[in-house]
Amino acid sequence: MPAFPQAAKQQLANAQLRHNLADATSTIRRKRADVVGELDDWAQLREAGAAIKTHTLSNLDTYLEQFEAAVTAAGGTVHWARDAEEANRIVVDLVRATGEREVVKVKSMATQEIELNDALRAAGIDAWETDLAELIVQLGHDAPSHILVPAIHRNRAEIRDIFRREMGEVGTPAPDDLTDDPARLAEAARRHLREKFLRAKVAVSGANFAVAETGTLVVVESEGNGRMCLTLPETLISVVGIEKLVPRWEDLEVFLQLLPRSSTGERMNPYTSTWTGVTPGDGPQSFHVVLLDNGRTNALADEVGRQALRCIRCSACLNVCPVYERTGGHAYGSVYPGPIGAVLTPQLRGTTSEVDKALPYASSLCGACYDVCPVAINIPDLLVHLRTRVVEQDRGWRSTPVDVLMSLASWVFGDAKRLAAAQRVASWSRKVIGRKGTIGRLPPPLSRWTDARDAPAPAEESFRTWWERNRGGGAR
Ligand code: SF4
Repeated sequence: MPAFPQAAKQQLANAQLRHNLADATSTIRRKRADVVGELDDWAQLREAGAAIKTHTLSNLDTYLEQFEAAVTAAGGTVHWARDAEEANRIVVDLVRATGEREVVKVKSMATQEIELNDALRAAGIDAWETDLAELIVQLGHDAPSHILVPAIHRNRAEIRDIFRREMGEVGTPAPDDLTDDPARLAEAARRHLREKFLRAKVAVSGANFAVAETGTLVVVESEGNGRMCLTLPETLISVVGIEKLVPRWEDLEVFLQLLPRSSTGERMNPYTSTWTGVTPGDGPQSFHVVLLDNGRTNALADEVGRQALRCIRCSACLNVCPVYERTGGHAYGSVYPGPIGAVLTPQLRGTTSEVDKALPYASSLCGACYDVCPVAINIPDLLVHLRTRVVEQDRGWRSTPVDVLMSLASWVFGDAKRLAAAQRVASWSRKVIGRKGTIGRLPPPLSRWTDARDAPAPAEESFRTWWERNRGGGAR
């Protein structure tokens, strides 16, 4: 996987992708703005959401133990997983113990993060995604490109072709006369999934929230496929990131308002499913929760970075991000794309690889992500924080060209006369390098900037000389 600058360049060349994304994100943005505008107390709700999450993260050890005790008391079993490998091993062993060779899945970012489907496949177990968008991604042998709408990069005609080509290979085929009408596509998916739901004895889910005081897991969704998974099978295995906890049942009141309005632009999620342990004669009779760390305690240890763990995966920041809208999710090289991916992934995976080091730079720092975030994560602040980390970590004993440039800039800006002289040189240089109003190409290392953007040419006259000429007051 190439790092973001190279991957983004490839994606930018795909006009169809840009069209699909612009279409989808502008619709979701509009819907979100409408329903958020209906609430007079949105700012207070947002503050409450941020405060609950901050409090929980500060006392996570206590709440995790409380959650484990509550799940156990309700007849479930809690497993602790330090990393992806451990989590996958636990799930594979649990499925194997049932004797089954297939599972149905509720859409889950945590299981994508640990690449559970691959681990199950390696163990000879088929995992069937049941969320419509996830199904499209799975049948298309593709990767998700959005937190909420994983197939956002596909249009209806592409989906019809995928259904026609692939459904018959793994189950109930799509009708021969399938069109790209949304109702027909949904009907084909429903028929295909029904067979899986009725056969599966094991389901794997994630959770949007986990309530510490009751041991309850909560999944919100739009299609009802999740609820089928959570209620029909005999065994339910839920893989849940440790940051999903909220202390009390009544905390859900805040998040069940913030999440649907921020994510799908709806007042309520069509389906909100909650389950607590095991109830004889009703729903799965064997229930397991795998509590996943996988880098989260590293993020928690960073006083600035830990706010990324407040994220409720609503995807509002993706939908407003001008960088995401043009490059799409695949360019980020992570299951968490967009602004939240740019700050969460380097914390979960570290900043050693070229892909992860580049992520904090995958932003224009315009601040739109912070404005819409329902739990007030200051993503621009975090991006700068992580950029500092990358620079510090890469700083060796030898100065880089950027270090030299920054020292020079500091020297120039440190003295008014030097700055005035530099501005005169810049205005003069316009005659040579910026006659058309922009600078197309500069020599290295400045070419790293001009290769990707047109820099505006220096003004013919600086503000300082204009002031001297017009007001005659002497520049300060
Ligand atoms: S960072 Fe905020 S806006 Fe982005 S997905 Fe998370 S909660 Fe939503």
